[in-house]
Amino acid sequence: MSKFWSEVVHGLTPYTPGEQVQMPGLIKLNTNENPYGPSPKALAAMQAALGDGLRKYSDPSNAVLKDAVAHRFGLRREQVFVGNSSDEVLAHTFHALLKHDLPLLSPDISYSFYPTYCSLYGIESVQVPLNARFEIDVEDYRQPCGAIILANPNAPTGIALTLAQIETLLADHPDQPVVIDEAYVDFGAQSAASLLGRYDNLLVIQTLSKSRSLAGLRVGFALGHPDLIAGLERVKNSFNCYPLGQVQQAGAVAALDDAAYMEQTARAIIASRTWLTTQMEELGFEVLPSQANFIFARHPQHDGAGLAAALRERAILVRHFKAARIDQFLRISIGTDEECASLVAALKHILI
Ligand SMILES: *Cc1c(COP(=O)(O)O)cnc(C)c1O
Repeated sequence: MSKFWSEVVHGLTPYTPGEQVQMPGLIKLNTNENPYGPSPKALAAMQAALGDGLRKYSDPSNAVLKDAVAHRFGLRREQVFVGNSSDEVLAHTFHALLKHDLPLLSPDISYSFYPTYCSLYGIESVQVPLNARFEIDVEDYRQPCGAIILANPNAPTGIALTLAQIETLLADHPDQPVVIDEAYVDFGAQSAASLLGRYDNLLVIQTLSKSRSLAGLRVGFALGHPDLIAGLERVKNSFNCYPLGQVQQAGAVAALDDAAYMEQTARAIIASRTWLTTQMEELGFEVLPSQANFIFARHPQHDGAGLAAALRERAILVRHFKAARIDQFLRISIGTDEECASLVAALKHILI
């Protein structure tokens, strides 16, 4: 608290990210980082971008990166927005597109940054409860609203909607922006990007942090009708004209172009997810059906916070949320096969 703060600062509840502990031998399964490194082509492209050219400002229109994104999704440059992380793209989206007279709808259990942006930008929101199976039911969104945002697959549940369900949502709300945050879509869900030609109210947001293993590079993007993108550009250019540096853009372009590498590592993660799910179920856990690079699981006899603490003592970090309805769950990022095996071994010790 300080008397020097602007009024708005007093009312903020900042997002708390998973801890970034540095400790030898630590198994870090708490922030959904990808255990496989970035594409070697992305690393080479960034090394090549280090030079005298950094003297100059980067391209404020990010044309080369937008074209790489557009190419991957079969879109035009005008349908693409890029930013310094998808968190930043989300922030601009809340600011530019989600504040209306009627409230914003989002799931009661979802990415906890959404309420944070609502408090930052003064957006009224209504949290729509997930059903008893922790699924988003699109029928529940049939109510007056100014806009909708949800994550697909949802976080931290990992459960995905089908393309048909997303299309229902878009068709039900032709006059409201519907934002689909696809941070985890490459691990088995269907992207709504294929619907962009038919729905001018759709904005799809993705990140290079998860499936492209570039959480430290901070690159995200949005796909949508040129009018939605133009709104985002107005906010961005009123905030920071150069949010992406040249090295960042070079790495992002090469990572997007190396689709084969992304698909191969995503397949490995999906295989480990299947194995870990079976192992956890054998230990008595209930594991929600995940299409993401993490699983969300609870044990009927063991307290979630207690399990997270016991794992931490064994140098394994998982994420536990002290939130209503989900405080018995652990969110466990899918690591390498070795890390998953260490987790299972540790749980066996803890559960006896
Ligand atoms: C990880 C994550 C993001 C943020 O990704 P960054 O690009 O690293 O900021 C956005 N949405 C969801 C649901 C996420 O889990």
